[in-house]
Amino acid sequence: MTTKQQFKAESKRLLEMMINSIYTQREIFLRELISNASDAIDKIYYKALTDDTLVFNQADYYIKVTADQANRTLTISDTGIGMTEEELENHLGVIAKSGSLAFKSENEAKDGHNIIGQFGVGFYSAFMVADVVTVISKALGSDQAYKWESEGADGYTIVPCEKATVGTDIILKIKDNTEDDQYDEYLEEYRLKAIIKKYSDFIRYPIKMDVTGRRPKEGSDGEYEDYREEQTVNSMVPIWRKNKNELTTEDYNNFYFEKRYGFDQPLKHIHISADGAVVYNAILFIPENTPFDYYTKEYEKGLELYSNGVLIMNKCADLLPDYFSFVKGMVDSEDLSLNISREMLQHDRQLTLIAKNIKNKIKSQLQSLLKDEREKYEQFYKSFGRQLKFGVYSDYGANKDVLQDLLLFYSSKEKKLITLDEYVSRMPEDQKFIYYASGESIERIDKLPQTELVADKGYEILYFTDDIDEFAIKMLMNYKEKEFKSVSSGDLGIEPDTKDAPTEAEESDNKELFEAMKGILSDKVKQVKASKRLKSHPVCLSTEGEVTIEMEKILKAMPN
Ligand code: ADP
Ligand code: MG
Repeated sequence: MTTKQQFKAESKRLLEMMINSIYTQREIFLRELISNASDAIDKIYYKALTDDTLVFNQADYYIKVTADQANRTLTISDTGIGMTEEELENHLGVIAKSGSLAFKSENEAKDGHNIIGQFGVGFYSAFMVADVVTVISKALGSDQAYKWESEGADGYTIVPCEKATVGTDIILKIKDNTEDDQYDEYLEEYRLKAIIKKYSDFIRYPIKMDVTGRRPKEGSDGEYEDYREEQTVNSMVPIWRKNKNELTTEDYNNFYFEKRYGFDQPLKHIHISADGAVVYNAILFIPENTPFDYYTKEYEKGLELYSNGVLIMNKCADLLPDYFSFVKGMVDSEDLSLNISREMLQHDRQLTLIAKNIKNKIKSQLQSLLKDEREKYEQFYKSFGRQLKFGVYSDYGANKDVLQDLLLFYSSKEKKLITLDEYVSRMPEDQKFIYYASGESIERIDKLPQTELVADKGYEILYFTDDIDEFAIKMLMNYKEKEFKSVSSGDLGIEPDTKDAPTEAEESDNKELFEAMKGILSDKVKQVKASKRLKSHPVCLSTEGEVTIEMEKILKAMPN
């Protein structure tokens, strides 16, 4: 009779927490066990690469998932490197090994099920669905197999046992359904297949299952036959590891849809295979349409994060700057640990490098879209331009280098959207400023008296119809050393023609009228005076200082 070993303290707490937590994403246990199996095959593969006495015969290496509904067991078998008695003791008895140390304070533990949802907690996740976990393993180079068994928090046993081949079987005794929780699904073929597809499709070894079904009988007319055969459930080669040349736009679009990144057609895909300081593959998409919740608090930015083909996080926010929060897609890196915690991720040097890399890539892809496919870019800008402008405005203009060349504004001259570069490059020599006019709509701005003088000089005016426009531009301050200037600002920087200045007679003749007007408007205006700015309009408002009338309106409307 073997004595029961106790789990190490940390493991025990995590186990209890996991077993007791009402946890919605239990299905990830399968991802964890398959990933361990894949790691174990990796290890034997590596051994074969470095040891001449071993041959690695591709066909001998696979993972098999078997459900037995009658006995309520689910078995995950692998032909990997296996575990010795010592390894069973050390690796399955101590959780500290698996890097899941996010569970330190009680507070974190309360929130634990969220963390489990995002990261692997490894082997122990099996207890979310199983009453008893049995591990039968035979290590490479060993004659004796061992059986590790545990019913959860109260400990485990290890005894010698029989196993013909090297590798590991993990046998889960699936829990009975309770009033609140259903476990039967983890014994159902189609459900298991779906879970494998979802999380482990890209594991590079075959994941096999015995599958039953019904199909038309070959060579017969309208006859069907039942079959039971072994199938490989995963596709093994992820699209992001494939060569770009082998892939069509349709392949990428299918992937976009399969992954439910969006329900529109992506406007553009970006496939990155980085092989430099940090090694990663990524497939990113720029959606065509604004998601319905995009400009709300509910919208969550982020990319899927894979560690060596295994999904470890659904929405890794740290991979995208806010101003590119519309980008969808995934990143796979061999340099990330599967069990890295959320806190650790934020400080992970590899991840920071990847994020920087991705940011630059998105920027340059948008730039080439703007250059080569203007119509598409304008479609993009219609959906997400506002976010770029928010980006310029936030962080006190820290992002202006990234973003300023991606901005578009409506031009008085071209009657369409233009870039700041296009504006500046055709400025007449005597023009000092980049002029803009703010208003609710293009039609409204067209009628603004303030635009007349500037337009008359032959200068182009940018129309700001979005709330954020003027605020963003204030952060930019200038573009290619040209300052921005509102057409309604007091000093337009246009040389006043002396003959155009209001004569003293014009001032004094109307003195009474001006005083009467000022009286009626009282503190609504500071001063009423004669002006030469106007041509066809009798009157206009102008401001002194930095804040224009439009900005004031918005500032007043903003909740405090
Ligand atoms: P991690 O995979 O992050 O190390 P786990 O809790 O998933 O953490 O697994 C703990 C350890 O148990 C693994 O590192 C490995 O040494 C061992 N192990 C688990 N499953 C297997 C398996 N199928 N074959 C061989 N070793 C395994
Ligand atoms: Mg693991």
